[in-house]
Amino acid sequence: MNFEYTEKSLELQQKVRQFMDQYIYPLEKEYDQFVEENPWKVYPELERLKNEAKRAGLWNLFLPKSYGDFSPGLTNLEYAPLAAIMGRVTWASQVFNCSAPDTGNMEVLAKYGTPAQQERWLTPLMNGTIRSAFLMTEPRVASSDATNIETSIVRDGDEYVINGRKWWSSGAMNPETEIFIVMGKTDPNAQRHVQQSMILVPANAKGVDVMRPLRVFGTYDSPEGHAEVDLKDVRVPAENILVDEGMGFAIAQGRLGPGRIHHCMRLIGAAERALELMCHRVSERQTFGKYVSQYSSIRQDVAKSKCEIEQARLLTLAAADKIDRFGVKGAKDLIAMIKIVVPTMTCNVVDRAIQAHGGMGVCQDTPLAGFWIYGRTIRLADGPDEVHMYQLGRNTIKKALMTE
Ligand SMILES: Cc1cc2nc3c(=O)[nH]c(=O)nc-3n(C[C@H](O)[C@H](O)[C@H](O)COP(=O)(O)OP(=O)(O)OC[C@H]3O[C@@H](n4cnc5c(N)ncnc54)[C@H](O)[C@@H]3O)c2cc1C
Repeated sequence: MNFEYTEKSLELQQKVRQFMDQYIYPLEKEYDQFVEENPWKVYPELERLKNEAKRAGLWNLFLPKSYGDFSPGLTNLEYAPLAAIMGRVTWASQVFNCSAPDTGNMEVLAKYGTPAQQERWLTPLMNGTIRSAFLMTEPRVASSDATNIETSIVRDGDEYVINGRKWWSSGAMNPETEIFIVMGKTDPNAQRHVQQSMILVPANAKGVDVMRPLRVFGTYDSPEGHAEVDLKDVRVPAENILVDEGMGFAIAQGRLGPGRIHHCMRLIGAAERALELMCHRVSERQTFGKYVSQYSSIRQDVAKSKCEIEQARLLTLAAADKIDRFGVKGAKDLIAMIKIVVPTMTCNVVDRAIQAHGGMGVCQDTPLAGFWIYGRTIRLADGPDEVHMYQLGRNTIKKALMTE
């Protein structure tokens, strides 16, 4: 394994860093204030920033090389450090059209969409003119086991009829969101992992009711939001099905591999920034006659954080490298490992930074509270920690028995 970044990746890292310095950090506070005071409205400067990113060649960088013409040509390993730089500001990745859930949805359409589906939905998503949501989780069933999902997708002539209730549909509140990828069951009597299908549902289809935003630790995460959505007798053309009936589970598995690398690298970027802020803060303030940075407990916290970030980064780069060489399936154990390790690492590092900041650490004057919320929610989203441990534990035991 060689984690030396390629020339291309190093050049782009430099460009993304410069872009963050020039365009993102100066607007960080203004953005936060705008979304707090104007729920469900898109920050007016965002369009300008997106155009600047396009002009700078920093657009859609996430889509791996294996996607051919759609991809700007980076491997997962080359993109990973760019995601870490973007993760230093919670909303920055959307400026580069690299934010979830659009990235996963674009990957699905690039990999599994028909030319007509791609023209209608992938092209505007890749251009950043619309946004999307992914509707899998349901309030009435334990959705960390996706086979529990109850939403029905029933064929009726040349249409499908969809009925069900979803929640935690990230992005569904965004006024720019025009398309939902919905997971449901086309055949509840089929074998367990082929009952499910994915279908494209326009956000404005008759019968779609975006009922309410869910708060995350008291915040709305506006303008994307996380919505509860009712689907009542929603009719879409039969050609909106992705690939074919019964393929929902297979598509879901493929969708989540690179997406986990992106989340983890952004979280690593957030943790790095938290540690930097902590180092500055403790070097500025004195208690009981000495700088806070001189206390051994603080130095231990800084040292522990440094080690944990570096461990997490190397593990995540190993996962990215393995996906590039062996595909998502070949990298599944490493993908589970990063999903178990990185969000908790971020919570721990950010928690230490908050403590070292005193009261300032929990208020809007630093990005720390937002970083902690991001880490904490990713311990649930894309599958809770326990589910990844359950699967990794099972695979590890199986492999140990096979080698005896
Ligand atoms: C901020 C945020 C954004 C989200 N965005 C989306 C989105 O865009 N689209 C979408 O479809 N969903 C989204 N989700 C939903 C998320 O994926 C689910 O919450 C998650 O999969 C867990 O499902 P659940 O909430 O039904 O919990 P449940 O399935 O009820 O699980 C609850 C708990 O049970 C325990 N548990 C479950 N299985 C096991 C096991 N095998 N071993 C031990 N313990 C276990 C775990 O502690 C788990 O947290 C989002 C969630 C959050 C918080």
